[in-house]
This record gives sequence, C-alpha cells and structure tokens, in this order.
Amino acid sequence: MWNLPEIKTIEWNRRLSPLKYGGLYKYGYLGRQGSNILSPMHELSIALSIVELAEEEARKAEAISISKVEVEVGTMAGIDPDALLFAWDSVIQGTMAQQASLLIHSIEGEAHCLECGKDFPAEHFFVQCPHCNSFRYQITKGKELRIKSLMVD
Ligand SMILES: [Zn+2]
Repeated sequence: MWNLPEIKTIEWNRRLSPLKYGGLYKYGYLGRQGSNILSPMHELSIALSIVELAEEEARKAEAISISKVEVEVGTMAGIDPDALLFAWDSVIQGTMAQQASLLIHSIEGEAHCLECGKDFPAEHFFVQCPHCNSFRYQITKGKELRIKSLMVD
C-alpha cells in the first residue's frame, strides 16, 4: 500500500560552492546597474546548481518531487532575479523539481565599519561609512546566494 506523500520542509543554510557557480564574485561588484551586461548563461548555471542541490537534498529526504524552492539572493550577488526565474523554467524540465516554484528573497546589502564598529546599508562594494567616513569596512550581507528551504512531496 502506498501512503499519500507527506509534505516536508527541509531547512538548511548551505551555501553554493563558488566553483559551482563560477564567476559569481567576479561579476558581483557590477551589482544591479551592471546586471544587464551579464550573460544569461550566468543565471542558467546558477539555476542548474540550485536544482542539483535541491534534488540532492530531496533524495536524502526520500522525496518523490520538489514543490517549492526558496532562495536568498543578495542584491550585490550579481544575479538578476528575473533572469534567474526565466532560467528556472527551462532547467527544471525532467527533474524532480519540474513542478517546483522558485521563490527569491532579496537580501539588502550591509557593511560593518572596521573603524567605528557600526553597521550601515551598502548598495554596492565601494562605499564609505556614513558615521565616520571610513573606507575600512567589511561587507556582511548582500553577497549571498543560498537555498533557504525546500518543500518536497
Ligand atoms: Zn565608521
């Protein structure tokens, strides 16, 4: 007897390996304004990596199919969400994620000042601390690309 599939949500914060989406950080600094010059192949390879990781996790959970994938994408990750959604529809064909919707959460950039220790919003990689005018900072948010959750059947 075959039981009805149980819906499970797997939560994890696995970062995609830079090798798996080669070029991401290379293009990262172009940010939003440069996103139109990125090759569509870029988002296509990212979408493929997401599907591969999602399938790997779904198999571990002994799922039959994937119904939803939620990802977090930093605004400075050099990824065009529209291009990613477009790529998604083509890469899921014939995979466990064939029926899966992709939900993209945008993560705004943030930097931590190494001079005064305050955090401030960062729209791109070249910023200045608005509190003390320092150029010494670390980007703490906005570069990420991670799968936040999966819903599998
Ligand atoms: Zn500062």
